[in-house]
Amino acid sequence: MGQIQWMDEVLKRKDQLLKQSFELLSIPSILDESTAGPGAPFGRNIAKALNYLLDLGRKDGFITKNFDGYAGHIEMGKGEEYIGILAHIDVVPAGGGWTSPPFSPEIRDGKLYARGAMDDKGPTMAAYIAMKIVKELALPLSKRVRLIIGTDEETKWRCMNHYFKFEKMPVMGFTPDAEFPMIIGEKGLLSFKLVGSLTTPNVANDEWILDEFWSGERINLVPDLAIVKLKGEGDVFQLKEEFQAYLYEHRLNGYAEEADDHVTLRLQGIAHHAFEPDRGLNAALAMARFLSNMRLDAEGHRFIQLIADRFVDSFFGEKLGIQQKDDRLGVLTLNAGVFRYRSGESQEIHVNIRHPLSTDVDQLIQQIEEMVAEYQVYITDIDHLPAHYIHEDHPLISILSTVYEQQTGEPAKLLTTGGGTYARVLKTGVAFGPVFPGKVETAHQRDEYIEIDDLLKATAIYAQAIYELAQS
Ligand SMILES: [Zn+2]
Repeated sequence: MGQIQWMDEVLKRKDQLLKQSFELLSIPSILDESTAGPGAPFGRNIAKALNYLLDLGRKDGFITKNFDGYAGHIEMGKGEEYIGILAHIDVVPAGGGWTSPPFSPEIRDGKLYARGAMDDKGPTMAAYIAMKIVKELALPLSKRVRLIIGTDEETKWRCMNHYFKFEKMPVMGFTPDAEFPMIIGEKGLLSFKLVGSLTTPNVANDEWILDEFWSGERINLVPDLAIVKLKGEGDVFQLKEEFQAYLYEHRLNGYAEEADDHVTLRLQGIAHHAFEPDRGLNAALAMARFLSNMRLDAEGHRFIQLIADRFVDSFFGEKLGIQQKDDRLGVLTLNAGVFRYRSGESQEIHVNIRHPLSTDVDQLIQQIEEMVAEYQVYITDIDHLPAHYIHEDHPLISILSTVYEQQTGEPAKLLTTGGGTYARVLKTGVAFGPVFPGKVETAHQRDEYIEIDDLLKATAIYAQAIYELAQS
């Protein structure tokens, strides 16, 4: 057999790829538990999108299996071991402001627009057509190849928890759900809450009672708003003046507002993903820095000091004494994303830490516990996903690198991330496309699109990758 012209094979199937992408993209497969039922745990439309793909696979002569509507797979070949390609057909809600309706796919200027075009239905169809090419060329394979279809990637990954209760892990694989050339490592993700209960404050000599401190709604975002309610006998005029001066001095936006029995302070920050906490502007930390100079009730004061002493200017864990890095995954980062304080009731701070490969997590937690003990809070609700890293020497990396370099003529730079990708589901897996270097990541955005040329290029890369991996 001569050299296979992978792109020629893709171009022969371009109409089919586009037609089937359009059909899959037309199903609004957003999580909707109100229409959940047997075989459709995440709602009718997600089940419809899963069945659409499985039907396609069956008609094309693959072996398919549906796992109670949680996940499915499309398989070919023989052999004890299998290569896994992990994709997902659920999408995030469309939001408003689209140029063309998000579930009526449309091509403009060589770009395919639709919710899911980039994340992840376009790449899912690319991987499917890639498998079909390998099948139709009747190439000899020593392993099975399986497209694993997830349905709950955008929320809780319940799909894959269910799937891998029944199926063993692929020997290796990739997910077309992030970036090219490939992401071989992902930091470990540690989340927890610092909590404590509060007693009714004694007001006698204090100027202000910290009645309420509210900031942030998601642990994996830098909070962009902080709202504080102060009660008591303090000088309202002076408070407002000092707050305004503070905002001015630090070039912050916000205001103070007086009501019957309290003063409300609002401070605006800048949201950013938690894996780069220093790139946002944490509204809660800026608010705490202001309040740390005020006379507050004892418990309010302790809460503010906890934030000021342990979290302000501590995006890499400096003030908790937990800075660390390794040369595989880089530095530990820390985001305090949610703050809730209610005088006389309770206090909570939700923390998200992203750590390198070398971190000893038990020791890390113990260290933090010691550093916050004096503020009368304790750690609870610990959630940990270990770091994920595939060694550069693994055949998966060398095979995918070679395929990528042959098809693009570009070096296959190996990437790592502080964010999480779907590849983490696989014991031996990397994220491999679909976003090419220098291209815009449109996932989750209004007017999401994928360039048709990139979709075709990705299909050719996946086809060769499947062939080479299943032969190895
Ligand atoms: Zn995705």
